[in-house]
Amino acid sequence: MESAGMREQSSYDHMLTSEYASLLAMEFNRNPVVDDEAAFDIYPPYAPTQSGMTLPLRPPIVTIMGHVDHGKTTLLDTLRSASVAKGEAGGITQHIGAFSVPVPSLSDSAEGPRTITFLDTPGHAAFSSMRARGASVTDIIVLVVAADDGVKPQTKEVIDLIKKDGEVGVVVAINKIDKPGIDLDRVHTELWAEGIQLESMQGDIPAVELSGLTGEGLDKLVETISALAEIRDIRSEVDGPLHGYVLESKMSKGHGATATVLLLRGSLTHSSHIISGTTWARARQMTDPTGKVVKVAGPGTAVTVSGWKELPQAGDEVLSGTESDVKKAVQNRIRKSQLNATLEDAEAINEQRRVEREKKELEERSETVAGVDHIDPMTDTRQKKPKELRLVIKGDVSGSVEAVAEAVHGIGNQHAVVKVVSTGVGDVTESDVMMAKASEGVILAFSVGVPKAPKMIAAQHSVHVYSSSIIYQIMDEVTTRIINLLPPVI
Ligand code: GDP
Repeated sequence: MESAGMREQSSYDHMLTSEYASLLAMEFNRNPVVDDEAAFDIYPPYAPTQSGMTLPLRPPIVTIMGHVDHGKTTLLDTLRSASVAKGEAGGITQHIGAFSVPVPSLSDSAEGPRTITFLDTPGHAAFSSMRARGASVTDIIVLVVAADDGVKPQTKEVIDLIKKDGEVGVVVAINKIDKPGIDLDRVHTELWAEGIQLESMQGDIPAVELSGLTGEGLDKLVETISALAEIRDIRSEVDGPLHGYVLESKMSKGHGATATVLLLRGSLTHSSHIISGTTWARARQMTDPTGKVVKVAGPGTAVTVSGWKELPQAGDEVLSGTESDVKKAVQNRIRKSQLNATLEDAEAINEQRRVEREKKELEERSETVAGVDHIDPMTDTRQKKPKELRLVIKGDVSGSVEAVAEAVHGIGNQHAVVKVVSTGVGDVTESDVMMAKASEGVILAFSVGVPKAPKMIAAQHSVHVYSSSIIYQIMDEVTTRIINLLPPVI
């Protein structure tokens, strides 16, 4: 290369800007063409505008986790009512996936968060989907352990998650201390044995003893979370581009498609343009978790926003941009997903052809080896492909649809598997029935109705519609159907 300046800049792992790449191309007597369209293929990833200590503090985002029945819901309910009592007058905290609790003890001059944002549906599919993408939205996990029960299997699962994450802050809440005859030392020792080194045992993880039922120790929990947040120095831009995730989405009467967005960085302002998946919105009505209409929502909070062209999916990323950037990005994402779908179709056709070819070959072979009708099950390729239980899943909100899809996803083995052919929000429709018929599948209707017309069509075409609002019943139904698909044991 001729230019000394260029040599300095380039290395094997150096990403070239289009300008620099153009210069290089010209050096080699080539005519560079910069494809602006391609630049929009993936919406520009979120890029922080400032870094480090110059950023303002933001409220920590906290998830409460722990073994079933150890008191997570009760604790959340008590905290939520604290957020209403101490929040704006007349506010009613809605279930939108998150709520904020004020930190009372902070003086005006002190640093540290003024509110804490609790995510109130930790088992929610949106979180698994965000985690699957490596997005960690939680700054601090409150690990709830019931004092009368100690460390249990799901406690260990959370501990594993904490160890795997490595980044997340942890506060242990030893709950139900109002119960008689509890042994707190035992709980501390059990946690120690699992590698949770509490401050009481010379470790660095704080523990708070409390009762979610009576409210005893709750202030201490809020204080401890706030102190930990201060140590962890949780900061982000207030003014830069927005980066968040959809917690919940639903069709709402009078507002159309609405979604609760958890903001990690940047602010969401009324009338600004945001994109999520293949849909976008010009932010219309915005309400905070107490139902109060707001014009702007800052990082570390959740806000419900209307104005979406279509319902966004729980767990999807939300980014902001100019109107034209957002629209262009949506078009490109749609184009990309159409291309992927075409590709999948082509693969499916190829696969079908392969199966047919193999079948034909096998038939020809068995004709030539006349009289030999025994096929060795170990080498029989026809047995290799598992049978599929095809499902059309409908649910009341996108979060619940994802939850059902996630819950049934792993049911099956090498002989029979679940395949979700379609998902959607709202009542079962005629096209759902036709989709189930075409794929020879069944419909799972979770907390939604089955109107008369689709019900009749389903009956005509012998399409089974299973309705329930209990996820375990749905899982049982799917398990039974999977079992029915298994080959008989000889
Ligand atoms: P989750 O499954 O972890 O969400 O647990 P829940 O909040 O549903 O609580 C399970 C049971 O424990 C319920 O019967 C609660 O009333 C009870 N419970 C929860 N917190 C406390 C507490 O602090 N003290 C007592 N005595 N009972 C509690």
